[in-house]
Formats: sequence, C-alpha cells, structure tokens
Amino acid sequence: MEKVEFVVVGAGLSGLAAAMVLAEAGAEVLVVERGDYPGSKNVTGGRLYLGPIRAYLPDLWEDAPLERRVVKERLTMIAPKSSITVELSSERFRQPPYPSYTLLHATFDRWFADQAMKRGALVIPGYKVDDLIMKDGRVAGIVSSGDEIRANAVVAADGALSFMAEKAGLRKPHVAKNYAVAAKEIIELPPQVIEDRFGLENDEGAAQLFFGSLTQGVHGGGFLYTNRESLSIGLVFALQDLMDKSNSKSSEELPSLSPNGLLETFKNRSEIRPLIADGHSVEYSAHIIPEGGFRAIPRLVTDGMLVVGDAAGFTLNMGVTVRGMDFALASGVMAARALLRAREQADFSSSGLSYYETLLKESFIWEDLKTFQHMPDFLANPRLYERYPSMACDLLEQLMWIGEGSKEKFSTTLVRTIRQSLLRVGVLKDLFMIRKI
Ligand SMILES: Cc1cc2nc3c(=O)[nH]c(=O)nc-3n(C[C@H](O)[C@H](O)[C@H](O)COP(=O)(O)OP(=O)(O)OC[C@H]3O[C@@H](n4cnc5c(N)ncnc54)[C@H](O)[C@@H]3O)c2cc1C
Repeated sequence: MEKVEFVVVGAGLSGLAAAMVLAEAGAEVLVVERGDYPGSKNVTGGRLYLGPIRAYLPDLWEDAPLERRVVKERLTMIAPKSSITVELSSERFRQPPYPSYTLLHATFDRWFADQAMKRGALVIPGYKVDDLIMKDGRVAGIVSSGDEIRANAVVAADGALSFMAEKAGLRKPHVAKNYAVAAKEIIELPPQVIEDRFGLENDEGAAQLFFGSLTQGVHGGGFLYTNRESLSIGLVFALQDLMDKSNSKSSEELPSLSPNGLLETFKNRSEIRPLIADGHSVEYSAHIIPEGGFRAIPRLVTDGMLVVGDAAGFTLNMGVTVRGMDFALASGVMAARALLRAREQADFSSSGLSYYETLLKESFIWEDLKTFQHMPDFLANPRLYERYPSMACDLLEQLMWIGEGSKEKFSTTLVRTIRQSLLRVGVLKDLFMIRKI
C-alpha cells in the first residue's frame, strides 16, 4: 500500500489548481485522472473570466494557451421565426488586463497539468478512482482497480456528479432539478473566416448567448464562442424539465427533443447557419452542469477530504453569463491553502480543514452564488423561453415592417402589444421576481 501526502481526484481546472499550489509549496501531491489526458473527458463552453482569479493565480496567464480575448458580447433572443440580437462592443474589453478569454479544455488543461508537474505534482492520466479508503470514519485514501493509495487528505475534484463527495457522505444522491445537461460541438474554421464573420481583428473574440425558442420550450439556452481556429457551439437544458417534457412526448416526437437533435435544429437556423458554414465538425460532447446554485451546495469538508469546483456545485448561470471555470480555479487554490495550513498543524480532521470554508465564505464564489441564489427559480420561468422572446421579436418586426397599406402609429402598436402580452398576472409576478436577482 502506497502513501502520499495528498491525492487529488480529477485533473480539471479545480484539481490542477489545487495540485499546483500544493506542489509549489513543496507538498507531495498526486493527481489521478480517468481520461487519457487532462482535458479529454471534461467539457466546457469555454469562456473563462480572468478578473476574479488573477489574484489567486497571478503568474499563470502570460504564456497560457488561451484562444481569443473576448471583446464582443452578443445576446440573442430567439422566437420561432425571428430573433433579436443585442451586441455590446466595448473599448473596456480591449484594454489590458483583458477580462475574459475563450479556451479549449484539450489544450489548456494539458498545459495546466504540465505547469503543475513542473512545480512537482505527479499527474497520472488513465487512472479512474473507484472508491475511497475509509478508516475510523475518515477518508484515508483512494482505491483504483483494487490498488490502494493512502493520503493525509483527498481533494474531490471529480466534477459535476462527484461520486467521491457522495461516497464520503458529503452530499445526498443527485436530484435532477439541480443539474443541466449540455450538448456541445467544436467546428473548425480558418481564423480569418472567424474574424470576418464576427467582425473581429487579430486575436479578438466574441461570445454569443441565446435564449428563447431554441430548446422547444425546455428551460435552457445556447452559446457560441470563437476560438482561434474553431467555434464552440452548444445548448444547455435544465435536466428535470427535459425529462418532464420528454415523458410527455410520443416516441416519434422524442428524437427532436434530444439534446443533439435540438443542437442540429439550432445549427440550421438562419442566425447560425452562415456563421458555421463550411466548418468542419471536429468534436462532439455532452456533459452535466451543476446548476442548483447556492441552495444546492453540499457539505464541503469532512475528516480527510474536501470538495472543489463542479464537485461542490460551484457554477452560476445568470442567463447573460455562465461561470464555473473561475470558481473551479479559485476553489482549488483555496483548498490547497487550507491543506497547507492543516499540514502545518498536522490536523486533517474536518475542523483542521475548515479553513477552506472560511476562505470560501470570504471569497467572490460565496458572495456571487449567494447574491444570485434565486437565479435557478428565475430561469425556471417558461415565459422566458416562449412568450417574452416572441413578444419582443413581434413588436420590433411590427415597428419596422413597411407593408402594402398605410402604417399605424408606433404608439398604437406599442399599446396593443402591452395590452395583449404584458398586462397579465404572470408578467406582474415576473416583475416582482426580477427584484430578487
Ligand atoms: C457545456 C458547458 C458549458 C460551460 N460553459 C462555461 C463557460 O463558458 N464558462 C465557465 O466559466 N464555465 C462554463 N461551464 C462550467 C465549467 O466548465 C466547469 O464549472 C468547470 O470546468 C469545472 O471544473 P472542475 O475541475 O471542477 O471539473 P471538471 O472539469 O469536470 O473536471 C473533473 C475531472 O475529474 C475527472 N474524474 C471524474 N471522476 C473521476 C474518477 N472517478 N477518477 C479519476 N478522475 C475522475 C474527469 O475526467 C474530469 O477530468 C460549462 C460547462 C459545460 C458542461
């Protein structure tokens, strides 16, 4: 039986951040990853906000293989046969330090693992952890294919479904309402084509989010990010709602409600088709996202183990932005700092590791998750996906349409729309709900 100081399960951003900080401080840390290489099994949309994490990992970014710095934000509201896109292009996004970048896990995570190894961490891919070693009621290591590796403490960085957290009794079995499921595709295109289609220069990038009638009424949305030589495009669906709506469909209707079926339909819309035209699809993936928010955070620490990143449910979908990678990186760093302190005190019990919770509660992760704790309720509103996008698109179309006959006054169109669509009980409830987010 082997023993190391620390084992990290999962070589995603959270696990690698923890390993890097531990290794840099001279601790013995082993990272085990079930995929063939870091970045081979995990999925992200791909937009990383650097603002919140520069203070946690200050020296990492200069040589990092990031794709494009995002200077253009687009938000598209989709109705069945029309859409409205709002584009924000700001000089503020073009000034260093740049606020956000796109990235690809397959490139970035491999590089990040190299950085952790250069500092002394040992990263072993192709190694799936099957179980935890429990000794006297505390986590004492991991088990893989019958091999046991003992450790002073284990970091559960094993992603959204975290079986490690469940095995250690830190969280209850999964509930569908706390998760979303996503389908994503990477489509290769020459850099110049990407820049021309999105109106970008050099290594500038764009981020586009979509909501409305693109998920057949299922709560969710879409994203499109520009990488250096590819586009990342995908749809995200609230898992419970997808299951409920699938159960109410006949077997002939079901394929159209599958995430990949809906992604195909989305790609064929006139808003998307010209952006991806002549592109070469190089990767397709599906993944779970923990979207339960603040109220779904599990216990984070037990004797001999702490939980980071997606495994701890640290993601935040605010409709106009999706975050998880910045939370993963910062929580990994905080976990490492807590472990180093526990090491000094030779106390890896839950009270010895509780500094992790203290650090988290003082951080942007906790603050942001708490501030937006009502976001999951807000996003579960069916009117966001059908009525409001249709209403907005219809209104704008009516205002702009010049037909054969005479044109009515703008005010008449506006008053009629407000009467028909806005003066309803549900809408007033929604206005009250907005106060909470
Ligand atoms: C479609 C999609 C779009 C997203 N878009 C964005 C975005 O634009 N911006 C953003 O900030 N966030 C986004 N997120 C969220 C973000 O990707 C995650 O929050 C973040 O990557 C989580 O990192 P992590 O290290 O905690 O987990 P992961 O990246 O999931 O890493 C977990 C690792 O653990 C490994 N593992 C799991 N079980 C075991 C085991 N038993 N043994 C060994 N290894 C194991 C996995 O293979 C994986 O490599 C998105 C997520 C998805 C799915």
